[in-house]
Amino acid sequence: MASITHYIDGGRYTGTPSGTLAVHNPATGEAVGEVLLASALDVEAAVSSAATAFETWSTTSLAKRTNAMYNFRNLLVENQEMLIGAITREHGKVLEDARGELTRGLENVEYACGIAEILKGRFSESVSTGVDVKSVRQPLGVVAGITPFNFPAMVPLWMIPNAVACGNTFVLKPSEKDPTASLILAQLFTEAGFPPGVLNVIQGDKLAVDGLLTHPDVKAVSFVGSTPVARYIATTATTHGKRVQALGGAKNHMIVLADADLDLAADAAVSAAYGSAGERCMAISVAVAVEPVADALVARIGDRIEEINVGPGTQSDSAMGPLITREHRDRVADYIRQGEEAGAKVVVDGRNLTIDGEGFFLGPTLIDHVTTDMSVYRDEIFGPVLVVVRVPDYDTALQLIRDNQWGNGAALFTQSGAAARRFELQADAGMIGINVPVPVPVGSHSFGGWKNSLFGDTTMYGPEGVHFYTRAKVVTSRWPEQESVGLQMNFPTNG
Ligand code: NAD
Repeated sequence: MASITHYIDGGRYTGTPSGTLAVHNPATGEAVGEVLLASALDVEAAVSSAATAFETWSTTSLAKRTNAMYNFRNLLVENQEMLIGAITREHGKVLEDARGELTRGLENVEYACGIAEILKGRFSESVSTGVDVKSVRQPLGVVAGITPFNFPAMVPLWMIPNAVACGNTFVLKPSEKDPTASLILAQLFTEAGFPPGVLNVIQGDKLAVDGLLTHPDVKAVSFVGSTPVARYIATTATTHGKRVQALGGAKNHMIVLADADLDLAADAAVSAAYGSAGERCMAISVAVAVEPVADALVARIGDRIEEINVGPGTQSDSAMGPLITREHRDRVADYIRQGEEAGAKVVVDGRNLTIDGEGFFLGPTLIDHVTTDMSVYRDEIFGPVLVVVRVPDYDTALQLIRDNQWGNGAALFTQSGAAARRFELQADAGMIGINVPVPVPVGSHSFGGWKNSLFGDTTMYGPEGVHFYTRAKVVTSRWPEQESVGLQMNFPTNG
């Protein structure tokens, strides 16, 4: 079985692990690798390598940084099949979803290739006689990223390109459930010409995370994962004097108004709810049907679910793969039971799906007549379960979004510009879609939610990512003109 190591100082690193953990192929249930769990000494080795690299990387010219980033971008494209294969093997998502994840990650690398333009400072000439002022942004030092299982390549690529292009050095702690993609990224990074230590990967669990959160040389922490852990990361890292951005969980609502194109809305709901088996923080998990559309919408979604082929991600005809672990699959299945017992109507029951073997499969599930007191509405399920809440009017639908503890994404389906404009203004979420179910911003904007979906005030990647990974410096200089300047320029010529 493959041993999945750390990557420190430009090469694979075994160190002195505190233990190991089996990594499974969710489509078969088989163990496909064993990941090392970092000890405190291993964390120290990674941070120390990054701290040493920072001394030279932070003053390496923008031209050289850009060149390495271009190389990295090209290597990602050249090696995409290897990366996609690793993602599907350990995460389970279908190959097309893995390809999509990489494409979205690449956007951030391409954005960071423009760092020379992005990092241009501001300059005020002659603010006073002989006095000029310039504002620049400088790197922080060693920064850490802690990432979730659901996008093992894309989420690290939300962080690393901007952090490194800005002159920081990086320590990544990926999810222990699908760690191989991070090693491939690190290998390609080295091949691209980034010096050893600019990107280090430390595999592990809470012990490794805590080591990073409390290390005095780590200046900032970027986190993406569940809300309880995001809250913990934000509290612990800020207590230790670090800058933090911690993105948490979600329960994204999609409101369908009476004037919406119901076929478009049903197509959107199905792809947004069941893509990657619903294991996406921007998945739609609540369809809010504004009457009188509910019966027609539920029927259309139900029809489309019948067309979804569930199977191993490597099979070309699979549209949806398994869930990440057996425990998670069973937890999601139990939510369906809870919804049914609470009085909701299970229109399509994913528990009825049978697939040979030991894979962690669960079929797409549609639950209608859900009310806000039910656990299927209250909790983030993070699986292929779409719940439908029926409401009498638009005001009630908007209020649901306002009352929800999360505010990652929210979508509206309508043909009314006025309704859309009101949604943009009043929906309580960080990323809004109008007739777009999964409004993930492109790499030149920034990603992040509101309320319990984000701790810290800076969102990720794009301009806010650059802001997060840099600090401001303002230089005020006085160079008064001198009568005797001609004399002063008379440098001695004898050396
Ligand atoms: P998770 O919170 O369990 O784990 C995320 C990371 O934190 C992993 O690297 C893990 O090793 C580490 N971790 C887990 N428990 C920890 C603890 N007690 N102390 C310190 N570190 C710990 O999340 P996950 O299950 O890997 O990912 C799914 C979650 O991530 C969902 O809630 C999803 O909504 C969220 N997510 C959010 C976004 C976003 O942009 N808001 C994006 C992707 C995923």
